[in-house]
Amino acid sequence: MARTPKTGEMLHLRGNALSKGEPVALPLTQSSMFHMPGAPDGHPTYGRADNPTWTQVEHVLAHLEDAPCLIFPSGMGAISAALFATVRAGSRILIPSDGYYVTRLLADRFLAPLGVSVEERPTTAFAQGGFDGFDVVFVESPSNPGLDMIDLAQVARDVRAVGGITIADNTTLTPLGQRPLDLGIDIVVASDTKAMGGHSDLLMGHVASRNAQIMERVEEWRRISGAIPGPHEAWLLHRGLETLDVRFDRMCSSAQVLAERLASHPAVSQIRYPGLPSDPSHDLARKQTARFGFLLTITLASEDQAERFINGCPLLRPATSFGGVHSSAERRARWGDQVDPGFVRLSVGCEPVDELWQALNDSLKALA
Ligand code: PLP
Repeated sequence: MARTPKTGEMLHLRGNALSKGEPVALPLTQSSMFHMPGAPDGHPTYGRADNPTWTQVEHVLAHLEDAPCLIFPSGMGAISAALFATVRAGSRILIPSDGYYVTRLLADRFLAPLGVSVEERPTTAFAQGGFDGFDVVFVESPSNPGLDMIDLAQVARDVRAVGGITIADNTTLTPLGQRPLDLGIDIVVASDTKAMGGHSDLLMGHVASRNAQIMERVEEWRRISGAIPGPHEAWLLHRGLETLDVRFDRMCSSAQVLAERLASHPAVSQIRYPGLPSDPSHDLARKQTARFGFLLTITLASEDQAERFINGCPLLRPATSFGGVHSSAERRARWGDQVDPGFVRLSVGCEPVDELWQALNDSLKALA
């Protein structure tokens, strides 16, 4: 079972460092300029390089990851930073063929034309062929949307043994569900747009690594490329992180209950949830995750059934993205993911589980 961060300590990180009279809630510093007569002396200089609100959010994220963190204006901003900080012309990189599709687009449209050789493998066969000759190996576990997993400790060891760097996209589980750095992965990237922010009102991402050289390069990328988060979004993320533990706990517990009920529902031909003992990811999940997550997938008989199920359920937002307090669902084939037309990714939110089950069940019953 994985180590988990102390979220009580996290809630008091700021408070325990305050001087008398300072605000307990995080102030939002909305400024591009900083008062700076004379030498900078380590003070904030300019809004593209520093912001006190970012620093506080990064402090909380660093507590969750147990590693230095840098925030970015979206998950893709974080993924771009990690890749541009680690590859150069002539590098060979390996990415999942079944992970979040925009990571593949980034590699194909922007890295390959710069002379980076990009190869893809499915998550379940990722280690086949070994990692010899790869400079950067990017994994996503559980993968979005298939929820397949990879043995992170094993891949980290194997890639390190041949001199490569590993990057893990940990969006689907958050550091409360899994900490890839503890398993030997070099860099974690995440979309904090999802459960970390949790209210579907911001886009953000972060990069974490215990390798100081890598983090220096990632910081340089952010400062020079200008891919910086807005202070207000950073402030919103900080606020979201304060309730991550309660939200995530509820979402994962409800997902388990719903998965068990959906598994025996006649309208559901296939279900994936790592918390089900029959799930192909279950053994790995037990080994390397602290929770089984809030995402599950079901396959219904057809595109039409899937659309009617989603759109007919008053407690499901028909939306892309996931991890918010409101349960949401979508048919992933609409984005070209290689999945069945009736395949639905369901993100379990914070609604009371029996109310949610009733709504899902009614919507499934209406398909008959
Ligand atoms: N990684 C995963 C696994 C995702 O699902 C997403 C978005 O859905 C991203 C990265 C990109 O995040 P963002 O939309 O915040 O750029």
